[in-house]
Amino acid sequence: MERRIGIMGGTFDPIHIGHLITAEMVRSAAELDEVLFVPSARPPHKDGTCAASPEDRLAMTARAVSENPSFSVSDIELRRDGPSYTVDTIAVLRAQLGDAVLFFITGADAMNDLYRWHEPQRLLRSCQFIVATRQGAALDERIIMEKFTPTERSHIQAVQTPHLEISSTAIRARIRAGLSIRHLVPRAVEEYIEERGLYRAHDEEL
Ligand code: ATP
Ligand code: MG
Repeated sequence: MERRIGIMGGTFDPIHIGHLITAEMVRSAAELDEVLFVPSARPPHKDGTCAASPEDRLAMTARAVSENPSFSVSDIELRRDGPSYTVDTIAVLRAQLGDAVLFFITGADAMNDLYRWHEPQRLLRSCQFIVATRQGAALDERIIMEKFTPTERSHIQAVQTPHLEISSTAIRARIRAGLSIRHLVPRAVEEYIEERGLYRAHDEEL
């Protein structure tokens, strides 16, 4: 049987239980053998700005995924120079993973924005996509119909996941405000953030 591998991309600034629960729900619904978390080095769509360094984001992701034997983390985007284009990442992973079937996992917000990514049509054709949809975060059918051909659309499947109103942006804001983030991120991530004094003070909202 071919291996079925999920790929969860993100800035993970920091990684939180929304990412982990989504990845696990998608993994079980789509019968994936494993999920690889791929932190992006210089996310092109976020103007290349992250609050924490790539090394800290990778370290937090590694701590978070260590709880789940089906999860692992890849540093491939961090080892590559230039912008982190998903289409390039998929090509590298495809070469590394042989004949595994690759499923890129995104939230509906990211999928609705995908047509603005680098070479979106080639990206869609290069692997399967699983969109985690939830109440308040649905696929925008109009955008998907307008921007992609039937063949490209056939690579997209939706999986219902629980709605968790959690974002990295909100977690960073809580830390700046001195509020608790207990249970919003795994304990090991919370400890790492405390030890390194991450996200405490920033002049601007990142
Ligand atoms: P930020 O607030 O900095 O944008 P984020 O919480 O949205 O951070 P990202 O690293 O941007 O996290 O997201 C990575 C992936 O996880 C995206 O595909 C995004 O749609 C998805 N995602 C983020 N938060 C959630 C959530 N609460 N539930 C489900 N999916 C999520
Ligand atoms: Mg986001």
